[in-house]
Amino acid sequence: MPLTLWVTCRVGAAPDRRLVRPGAVRLATRAWMPVGRRVTIVGGDLVALELAEFLARRGRFVSILEAGRDIAPEVGNKRKTEHMDRLDRLGVTVHVRVAVERITTDAVVFTPVGGTSRELAADSVVLAGTVEPDTALFDTLVVEMPGTEVHAAGDCSGLGLIRKATEDGARAACSI
Ligand SMILES: Cc1cc2nc3c(=O)[nH]c(=O)nc-3n(C[C@H](O)[C@H](O)[C@H](O)COP(=O)(O)OP(=O)(O)OC[C@H]3O[C@@H](n4cnc5c(N)ncnc54)[C@H](O)[C@@H]3O)c2cc1C
Repeated sequence: MPLTLWVTCRVGAAPDRRLVRPGAVRLATRAWMPVGRRVTIVGGDLVALELAEFLARRGRFVSILEAGRDIAPEVGNKRKTEHMDRLDRLGVTVHVRVAVERITTDAVVFTPVGGTSRELAADSVVLAGTVEPDTALFDTLVVEMPGTEVHAAGDCSGLGLIRKATEDGARAACSI
């Protein structure tokens, strides 16, 4: 199978959104999933870990390549440990502190910090990336609507998961 490259994204507001509910997608993937046998996920945040667990449960051989020294830096130690236990049980290989150099037709080439270049065979590669704040809309509204109170809440102003999003929202509501 030729190497496939995936970039994680959310399903947009398509008219048939009802049909692509997580439960339906999960069920469909038991029958068919266009992902090769050996999968490398580039990135090791929470989304990457959940994807790795999911793919491993579907019989894929999964590896994670993370540039930082830690996986899932956005969650606390308890949850991180739970994920690490599951990844361990599912046989997912995790490499931290690595620089991905290139993706070839059948492998990902990476270099561990202080080490030499290595090759990881892969049929599919997923670029999981990281969540970056983007205050562009907020900044525009502040400029375009002088004198109006504008609040930024949630991921757009920095990563903090649902807790931060709800807290930001509550603070904004209370300040009105
Ligand atoms: C796979 C995955 C697993 C996660 N697991 C957890 C978890 O276990 N625990 C946890 O705490 N957090 C988790 N998170 C993170 C959590 O979902 C987010 O931190 C949280 O949803 C942020 O809330 P938000 O309101 O800032 O953004 P969102 O929930 O993303 O809401 C933004 C909304 O704005 C809409 N929107 C965007 N642009 C526009 C526009 N121009 N006009 C109109 N509408 C627009 C979007 O469609 C969306 O509905 C997970 C995230 C992912 C992707």
